[in-house]
Amino acid sequence: MAGLHIPLRGMGAVGESDGAGMTADAVGRLVWKWQKRLHLDVWEISIITVEDVTINDEGHWADVQRRKDSYDAIITIATQQPCERLERTVIHELLHLMLTAKWELSECVYAQIPRRLRKMLQDEERVGEELAVNALARVLMEAYSA
Ligand SMILES: [Zn+2]
Repeated sequence: MAGLHIPLRGMGAVGESDGAGMTADAVGRLVWKWQKRLHLDVWEISIITVEDVTINDEGHWADVQRRKDSYDAIITIATQQPCERLERTVIHELLHLMLTAKWELSECVYAQIPRRLRKMLQDEERVGEELAVNALARVLMEAYSA
């Protein structure tokens, strides 16, 4: 399985079935399951698990960093969240990965335009992508749990 698991905080393993938290190994299996379903297996995904409810002070549950030229990505994810939300978060980050070509193209275009306009367009695009990715992650969860 592709992936590297680096628990950042040692709070002890949390059971997979308790509904509020997942082990790093369980998160890895979940990422691989959805990576295959979404036909993203060309990507080499490393996973950093944070044994907390968020990964940062901004309240984010996860984040993905990606490089399309080498098809490698790092997903950082908070493990202390309800299992269903955690799975939806995994799908969400993988959908961002799917949009990498669009994102890289946008970055090239933004580099050519004035800073003020760039910031406005980037914010608009980010919000649009978040809404689309959230909606699709929800639909995929429902479709596969039906
Ligand atoms: Zn997102």
